Amino acid sequence: MANNLVLLVLDSLRYDSWLAAAPPTLAALGTVERRWSYASWTAPSHYNLLMGLLPHTSPPRVYASEYYKQDFLRYSERLGTSGMEFKRLLPSIFLPTFLRNELGYRTHAMVSMPVLNRHTPINRDFDTFELMPKHNDLAAMLPNMSFDDARPAFYLLNTGETHYPYALPDEDPSTWPRISGVHGVFKRLDDQPGPDGEPEFFDERTLADLRERQINTVRYLDGVIGRLFDLVPKNTWIIVTSDHGELFGEDGYFGHGPIAHDKVLEVPFVEGLVP
Ligand SMILES: [Zn+2]
Repeated sequence: MANNLVLLVLDSLRYDSWLAAAPPTLAALGTVERRWSYASWTAPSHYNLLMGLLPHTSPPRVYASEYYKQDFLRYSERLGTSGMEFKRLLPSIFLPTFLRNELGYRTHAMVSMPVLNRHTPINRDFDTFELMPKHNDLAAMLPNMSFDDARPAFYLLNTGETHYPYALPDEDPSTWPRISGVHGVFKRLDDQPGPDGEPEFFDERTLADLRERQINTVRYLDGVIGRLFDLVPKNTWIIVTSDHGELFGEDGYFGHGPIAHDKVLEVPFVEGLVP
């Protein structure tokens, strides 16, 4: 039987936040790589991931078509099946469609961001697709996962502990950091200079605290991921990555989305058979 495949997306997680957290359980899965997301926010990034195109390595002097070709060859190892190549995904170019209809997988998604809800076009050829009640609770997904010897399973898991406000599931929402109007007050650096020439919103202490909160969620998630490793069968290939990075004040930016900056594309990537 083909390998089970779990694609775990830690929403908004920056590569260097992962490095700072140095999660020991995740380290057993493989070597963490700095990679680049194809998109700067959740919806297009997940669409791209479901096309089978994982965050890329940005190699110079290589044509895109050649990179995609090489990238798809790795699915033979991931799925434990021979003969994977890009043309086998045609015409849908959509991993759930291919896995379910061509290879007989069960296909499941549990997501945490409302922009990925089951009414969106991303929910295609999934047997089940659930928007979780909380945006930040990977642990709540684990009891819903099942595996059997009859058919391999594909799971897309999107979780938001690592998403603003970088809160653990048991953290009282009334204690979450409040940045009044993240999308209003946090404007471009050159929008609102303060009396000393510094932007009023650019509170380095707050931004450093927020970054520390994201790092802390990785430390917490590492324990939950250990439970995931214990839960899945041995023939399960796990990919852990992020859909985009996050800005913590660099060059006047906060968050992700309408931002053109290296840090919004820089994501961690690790994969392997469950250790
Ligand atoms: Zn996202």
